[in-house]
Amino acid sequence: MITNEKLRRNPGRAVVTGGAGFLGSHVCERLLGLGWEVLALDNFLTGGAENISHLLEHNGFRLVRADVTDYVHVAGPVQAVLHFASPASPIDYLQLPIATMKVGSIGTMHALGLAKEKGARFLLASTSEAYGDPLVHPQPETYWGNVNPVGPRGVYDEAKRFAEALTMAYRRAHSVDTAIVRIFNTFGPRMRPNDGRAIPTFIRQALLGEPLTVAGDGSQTRSICYVDDLIDGILALLQSDLPGPVNIGNPHEISILDLANWIRELSGSASSTEFVARPEDDPEIRQPDITQARELLGWSPRVPIETALKQTIAWFREHPDFSDPRGTTAAADER
Ligand code: UDP
Repeated sequence: MITNEKLRRNPGRAVVTGGAGFLGSHVCERLLGLGWEVLALDNFLTGGAENISHLLEHNGFRLVRADVTDYVHVAGPVQAVLHFASPASPIDYLQLPIATMKVGSIGTMHALGLAKEKGARFLLASTSEAYGDPLVHPQPETYWGNVNPVGPRGVYDEAKRFAEALTMAYRRAHSVDTAIVRIFNTFGPRMRPNDGRAIPTFIRQALLGEPLTVAGDGSQTRSICYVDDLIDGILALLQSDLPGPVNIGNPHEISILDLANWIRELSGSASSTEFVARPEDDPEIRQPDITQARELLGWSPRVPIETALKQTIAWFREHPDFSDPRGTTAAADER
């Protein structure tokens, strides 16, 4: 495990937007563990208080319900702003297209403005979706991507690409100390069972004995990373002075059909497989080139995928709240 020693030796105060989300909540928890104070901002559109309720007793932690597309004001000193607020699973951003574009654009502008005002380091949670349906494999940071701006996924991909461009503009024009991380498919505890992504969906289906819904013939691939590894990499980037973008992900690439079969086996489930229609513009392949993260940050993933899947399945068994409606009905914020 990377110790993120610099962050521990030099604790400060961080603002985490999207702090009640899957990744945001893990970022908050790890920063608190390193002795940082954390202010989490969240509008609970796709995040949930249950993700951070265990942190509320911590003296250094505060949670404020706020929409970063509105004006963001934070009193007092801040050393780091980590911008994680966004719907991030395909069914969420397909149902919340305008909210997704607003948080990636206006929300990023506000988060950058906060970092500028406070003289804080700014870290943007960007995405492998910046590469779209890639024509280069694996994807290095120098690849500009193959994104359909007018397809349904364009709302997320282009919002994040805009957010990257805006981050670089604040760096160049206002000398804000910025970093961009491109996050590849990540899984672990606190994913919502109904968020529509492959791993929580297959686990939920396997545990309920329902058919595993494999899109297309399942030959498309993803490279999947355990959340603990991902947070290590993100904090390694935060404590560095690199601007990025830096890919953080596990190059362990697997076809979706193999992934479904693996999850069924590890769950001890007798679920069948149901082949369903492939979503529009669903990328064929995806694998991070993590040379930069290895060489410049000394980071690489440690947790074997089988161990990580077992831990995640165990967490889902202990949290069988499979009726969580967020992600399947969330359309409230479309104005
Ligand atoms: N997928 C699937 N069945 C599901 C959900 C997803 O086969 O129930 C497929 C999806 O079409 C895609 C892959 O799994 O090819 C990964 O999808 P996910 O939503 O997890 O992430 P992303 O597309 O953003 O990488």
